[in-house]
Amino acid sequence: MVRVRFAPSPTGNLHIGGARTALFNWLYARAKSGKFILRIEDTDSARSKQEFVDEILNSLSWLGFNWDEIYYQSKRLDIYNEYAQKLLKEGKAYKEKAIDKPREAIIFKVPPQKIKIQDLIRGEIEFDTAVIKDQVLIKSDGTPTYNFACVVDDADMKITHVIRGDDHISNTPKQALLYEALGFSVPKFAHLPLIMGMEGGRLSKRTGATAISDYRKMGYLASALVNYLLLLSWAPGGNVELIDINQALKLFDVTQVNKTSATFDLKKLNWMNNQYLKNGDSEKLTDVLIPLLIEKNYISADGFDRDYLVSLVKLFQPRLTTLNDFCDWADFFFVKELKIEEEAEKKFLGGDLSREFRLFIEKLDKLEKFDILNIEAGFREVVKELNIESKALIHPIRVALTGKTIGPGLFEVIYYLGKELTQKRLGRWINGGSNA
Ligand code: GLU
Repeated sequence: MVRVRFAPSPTGNLHIGGARTALFNWLYARAKSGKFILRIEDTDSARSKQEFVDEILNSLSWLGFNWDEIYYQSKRLDIYNEYAQKLLKEGKAYKEKAIDKPREAIIFKVPPQKIKIQDLIRGEIEFDTAVIKDQVLIKSDGTPTYNFACVVDDADMKITHVIRGDDHISNTPKQALLYEALGFSVPKFAHLPLIMGMEGGRLSKRTGATAISDYRKMGYLASALVNYLLLLSWAPGGNVELIDINQALKLFDVTQVNKTSATFDLKKLNWMNNQYLKNGDSEKLTDVLIPLLIEKNYISADGFDRDYLVSLVKLFQPRLTTLNDFCDWADFFFVKELKIEEEAEKKFLGGDLSREFRLFIEKLDKLEKFDILNIEAGFREVVKELNIESKALIHPIRVALTGKTIGPGLFEVIYYLGKELTQKRLGRWINGGSNA
């Protein structure tokens, strides 16, 4: 049975690179009906933090990468020590005491040899261990080094495939020697290509090394992010880019992962998120948005009109890059005090619009029915009566109602704002009219 693991160190948040490694492990496990194991590599007690463990677990859950088993290395120190003692006994390791350290460290004698590793992505890789120094197994503080704990755990947890970033490739020969010395069989390896920033070089904070939890806060959808992560080093074929996780499960094979490095492109992620928002189920999107709207005090947790919200979501859906765009762009439906962009006010509400707005306000009162079609018909009549171009009135009305120069169709906006609020917001711009 396939058993793979994701082994984050909780010395930082889960980032794009880690999330991709987790995805490919999870996907491989699920595609092969195997097990996905989560191993928290927290032996460095000075740098490991509970807040990072929480962030990593929450982010993995949010992305949908459910795990079958979870282990914490900090709870397994006895096991590593046991195996280190075994190597000592067999003469494969020795003790060494540094002058300033209270306890002895245990060091592995690296036997010089040529090692071949079959990598599922890169093919055969050969290493010469003559250039590798003897390796610390257990440090003088009693904790194991990464390479040692990793091998003991991968063997003990019966990991069949080690899928990890290729920044670990130099560790692989050291680990292969340890498997051999401990008498364990060597798992298969798959080293995922590096993810670079748009300007080359490793991902930096500026180029996308943002915590997954931050992407969530910024209003990215887990489904879109997962789809994007998939494309970072794998393609489903046939130029397909939008692929949901269930389809990916049927097509994914770790041997088809790209060998060359991937580039993280925020624009592409934004495009992807827009695709998911645009085509997503409006009801479900509304459910995701509701907590954000409550947080902003746009709606009250005790009572809101869900159907009305769904209609608003539908109105904005095609244009959204992130969920937060909805909060920013649809604010005028919820706020009491409308914020009007300064530039827009100067440009479109600078002159006296009393006559135009008054006529339109009156027209709204005379409509047979207050619906989108009639609102539009009424507007056309006003424009005709005033003998002006539509746009001469569309923009001022939009800015007066929404505070912005762009947005969904004006007649829909008026319909969903309602007659009363529309008239009130337009009335503010009528000389001698109500200034409410
Ligand atoms: N804790 C290591 C890391 O976060 C795990 C590497 C591995 O997968 O072996 O990079």
